[in-house]
Formats: sequence, structure tokens, C-alpha cells
Amino acid sequence: MSGKIVVVVGGGAAGLMAALAASEHGAQVILLEKNPRVGKKLLATGNGRCNYTNEDLKLAHFHGSDPNFIRTILSRFSGAQTLQYFYQLGVEPVTEEAGKVFPASGQASSILDVLRHQAEYQGVALVSNTTAKRVDKNGSSFTVYTSVGSFIAEAVILATGGKAGPQFGCSGDGYALAARWGHKLIEPFPALVQLRLKAPFLKAAAGVKVQGRAEVYHEADRPSQAEGELLFTNYGISGPPILAVSRAASEALSRGHQPALKLNLLPRQQPDEVASYLQDRFRRLSHKTAELSLVGFINKRLIIILLKEAGIELKLPAGKISLAQIKRLAALLTSWVFTVVGTNGWTAAQVTAGGLDHRQICPRTLQSKLVPGLYFAGELIDVDGDCGGYNLQWAWSSGYTAGVFAAL
Ligand SMILES: Cc1cc2nc3c(=O)[nH]c(=O)nc-3n(C[C@H](O)[C@H](O)[C@H](O)COP(=O)(O)OP(=O)(O)OC[C@H]3O[C@@H](n4cnc5c(N)ncnc54)[C@H](O)[C@@H]3O)c2cc1C
Repeated sequence: MSGKIVVVVGGGAAGLMAALAASEHGAQVILLEKNPRVGKKLLATGNGRCNYTNEDLKLAHFHGSDPNFIRTILSRFSGAQTLQYFYQLGVEPVTEEAGKVFPASGQASSILDVLRHQAEYQGVALVSNTTAKRVDKNGSSFTVYTSVGSFIAEAVILATGGKAGPQFGCSGDGYALAARWGHKLIEPFPALVQLRLKAPFLKAAAGVKVQGRAEVYHEADRPSQAEGELLFTNYGISGPPILAVSRAASEALSRGHQPALKLNLLPRQQPDEVASYLQDRFRRLSHKTAELSLVGFINKRLIIILLKEAGIELKLPAGKISLAQIKRLAALLTSWVFTVVGTNGWTAAQVTAGGLDHRQICPRTLQSKLVPGLYFAGELIDVDGDCGGYNLQWAWSSGYTAGVFAAL
């Protein structure tokens, strides 16, 4: 038992795990949280069900930092250890599509509750309504100055999250706390977020849900792509595939570019197959107008929009639609290109891409290379994951690592 005093700043997923790991390794732990209660964001995760890890933790699902840095931390507290850890606290895992793991209770509050109960059981002091303002060091002793007074510690773990979700208490405080010590920032940008598009018909399409593939083209990179349900909105587009490709779009926007989003509403067919299907269909339904001839094939609210985009008169008899018009419509259905003009920003983003530069952080212990005794965990570091439990896994793995080494 070290009996060392460790102050954890931030009571989110990473901070709670760091506090528990440090306490388990003998430290006396004080956790400071600016909100009235810890874990506010955790309650919102997974649509209130908390997708707390994934069965497939391939490195390709993580982004930002050096893959070796991420691999080292994930191996310190793996997916299997995460499942075991929560199982011991009483959480029965249920695996859903794409390896996503949720608590059997179907409640995100279960994850928060077991962590809080365990913190209480291990004697971790949870101090809420307390905002850390500055961290100073004198010899080997730290002073954490807060909105309500100061706390002395032998090690400090910063786990204040990034900028995603200011409504949950995250507005990038940790960047300023660390910058004071010379820690550099990889410019953060919102990820897992809805996209704003430039198109004249967004209001008319708002609310339409269609299955399809989304692709974002960004510079010379391979496109980022995902399939699933797309949801048109009055500002642009949402839905799981959009969140999945939003990182590439948001990164391009953060560099001053306007990336292109390509939607394929018929991803199983080639454009020429779609064209010959349409040709056949218009022949078969030649007595109907162009508009009515597409009812039953395309979402009703998209018909007018697509016909206008393809330059086809709505009232034109289907039998009179030219081959060039058919080809234009087939091209739109398989490759509808939009300009992305923005994202829905930090309030809507599920995660922060970018963050504290991992090159100034020891990959083995998550201790600052600039300030011995100062550690980092969670979204604050320049690591982010795909949708599917990867971000919380990063929070658990990095929180555990920082907690163990801070306690030594
Ligand atoms: C709506 C939503 C749904 C999500 N769903 C999932 C999901 O199902 N699965 C998944 O893997 N990921 C999900 N995520 C992402 C995941 O929640 C985060 O990546 C993860 O919570 C980050 O953990 P963290 O501890 O690093 O930061 P946070 O959880 O952001 O916690 C940081 C904490 O620090 C506190 N804090 C900040 N500054 C200070 C300060 N100066 N002093 C004291 N306290 C401070 C904040 O109030 C906050 O409580 C979701 C995110 C959102 C917004």
C-alpha cells in the first residue's frame, strides 16, 4: 500500500476508472468533479443504454494518435479485462450487432451506479461541484487550485475529457491545465457528429429515412464509408453511417476545406443496372407521370427532389423520359454528391478528435514526460474511436493505466 495521495480531476468514465485503479493500488484518492454529480455523460451514452465496450477491439477502430501508443494502453486493460471488471461489479454483458456490448439491464445508469458504489466501498472521496482551475507543483508536491479551495497531492491525474458535450461539463479545461506545463495540443475537432449540407431542398427532405451508403472524400485519402439508415434533416444529414464518416468530414472542415459527401441509395447495384431497371420501369408504367411512376420504388418525399435534380418534369409521361434523363437519375440514386459545409458542433458531437499530443506522454504509464507525477487519461489525449464502445474502452484502459501508475 503506497498511501500516496492522488487527486483525479474529472469524474467521467476515465476519471472514475483512474480513481478506482489508484485506490485499488493503495493510494488515497480524491476525485474532483465540476458537475453536481459524477458521470453525467455516462448516463447519456449508447442512447441511455451505455455501449461500454466492443468484442472487436481492432486498432483500426481507433484514431488520432500513434497506433503503438494506443495498442500499449489497450493491452494494459483489455476488452476481456473490462468485461471481467464490470462483471465482478455485477454488470452482466449483452452483445449486440457489430460486437457492441451493453449491460443486460439496458441502463447506462447501471454502469455509473456500480462505479459509484465501488468508489464508496474503496473509500474514494468524490468531491463534486468543484472545478479545477490550476495545477501547481512545488518539489514533489502538487497543489490543485479549484473553485472551492485547494487540494494537495503527490500525483495528479487529469481526466477532464475533451470539448465534446459542453452540456456534460466538457469544455476543454484540461487543455489549459496541461498547456501551463508545456503540453501541446493536436487541434481538436468534433467527431461522431451530424453533417450540415449545402442543398436547396433540405427542408423538403427533412425527416426522410433511407437505407444507403455514405462516403466522404477528403484529399487523396481513401474515402471513409459506412452503410445503414440515413436521416435527412433541415440542416443536412444524420444517422449511424453519417456519424461514422463524420470524422473525415470534420477533419477536412477543420483544415478549411469543404469535403464532398456521396450518398448511394442503391449500394448493391451498379449505375447501369439501375438505369436499365428504370428504363424498364418507365416503359412498364408509361401511362403514369414521371412523379407517379416512381411511387413504390423511391421514398415519396425524395421523388420530386430527385426528379428536379435530374432535370425531369414531374408531369412528363414516364414513357417519354429520355435515356439521358434516365442515366442522370440513375447516377443520382447511386452517387448523389453534396457539399459538407459544417458539422453540428461540440454540443452534438459524441467525441473529440485531437487533444493532448501523445508524444509528450509516456506510452507505458500515461505520465507526463514534462512533469513527473502528472498523468492523463481519456478523451483529453489525442485518441478517439469509432462509434461502438471504442471511446469508452479507451476511457477504461487509459484510466486504469494512469490510476495504477499514479498510485506507485
Ligand atoms: C451522447 C453521447 C453518447 C455516447 N455514447 C457512447 C457509447 O455508447 N459508447 C462509447 O464508447 N462512447 C460513447 N460516447 C463517448 C464517451 O462517452 C466518451 O468518449 C467518454 O465518456 C470520455 O470519457 P472521459 O472520462 O475522458 O471524459 P468525460 O466523460 O467527458 O468526463 C470528463 C469529466 O471531467 C469533468 N471536468 C471537466 N473539466 C473539469 C474541471 N476543470 N474540474 C473538474 N471536473 C472537470 C466533466 O464535468 C466530466 O464529468 C458518447 C458520448 C456522448 C456525448
